[in-house]
Amino acid sequence: MDTTGRTAEELTERVLAGEKRALARAISLVEDDDPEGWELVRQVYPHTGRSAVVGFTGPPGVGKSTLIGALTVLRRKADRQVAVLSVDPSSPFTEGALLGDRIRLTEHFLDSGVFIRSMATRGSLGGLSEATLQAALLMDASGKDDVFLETVGIGQAEVDIIDHADTVVLVLMPGAGDSIQALKAGVMEIPDVIVVNKADHPLTDTMVREIRGVLSLAKQEGWQVPIVRTEAGRGEGVEQVASEIDAHRAFIEEEGTLSDRRRRNLRNEVLALAAGRLRRRLEESVAQDDGVQELFDQVVERRLDPASAATKLLEREI
Ligand code: GDP
Repeated sequence: MDTTGRTAEELTERVLAGEKRALARAISLVEDDDPEGWELVRQVYPHTGRSAVVGFTGPPGVGKSTLIGALTVLRRKADRQVAVLSVDPSSPFTEGALLGDRIRLTEHFLDSGVFIRSMATRGSLGGLSEATLQAALLMDASGKDDVFLETVGIGQAEVDIIDHADTVVLVLMPGAGDSIQALKAGVMEIPDVIVVNKADHPLTDTMVREIRGVLSLAKQEGWQVPIVRTEAGRGEGVEQVASEIDAHRAFIEEEGTLSDRRRRNLRNEVLALAAGRLRRRLEESVAQDDGVQELFDQVVERRLDPASAATKLLEREI
């Protein structure tokens, strides 16, 4: 029984039926690392894989939320159901309300075809990235045609989250030349679509040229990454972003890379979860097992080197 007095099966049914409140409750369970949340995901998993999952990343303030808001309007006009998951790995606390205010989607809050959620905490079983995937799966199971994942920033934590997407959109704005350093430095893989928002800015052409420069260094075969100029605030160029996202999806479906990509992402997910559990088991054994304490003592006393101690630790575990 969950706290609302309903059984887990009922909650599963309600999520599958697309009920907004049930979906919100289910995501909270996952976020809180509640075993019932994991059970829910287990039950709905066979019903997932239908949503088009699109990840949006880029530095704060470039206009990601505005763009997602505009795309949501377009998708709703096409009678598609939309879920937006906004994830902030840099914040250690649940700043749901704050983030919710920040995303410019308030006009959609009353629309039953739109579900909006933000997450900043991490479950203890996996990290925030795992909790994101679980939440995205629940959204998928609840019948959303589009799941938009939004992260703030382009560091490694954001990349891990965005990796759950079928299509990755990098949003930049003119004048922020250093934000393409992450691309150059290979922090993130080349995205599938690049948006230069605030294209009313005089430095837009320079920015587009710089991005082309970086792209020209990358592999030239396969999908050609489009650079779309937008003014998300006014809705300019947003249709083109939507059609490039659709084109990318059609491309990877045709090429068979959608299933490859999902396979790779799910494999990483399973490994991350297994690694998380293993780490937890190891930490427990460190805390409880005198033999392990003895191992550490030996390392501290320079009688055993760290690598040999690690080998011994694993031998005890497995
Ligand atoms: P995020 O942090 O990347 O999600 O950015 P937001 O969507 O919150 O937008 C940051 C600010 O940029 C807001 O004040 C928006 O109104 C503004 N903004 C968004 N799109 C445009 C645009 O195309 N042109 C201009 N000049 N401002 C924009």
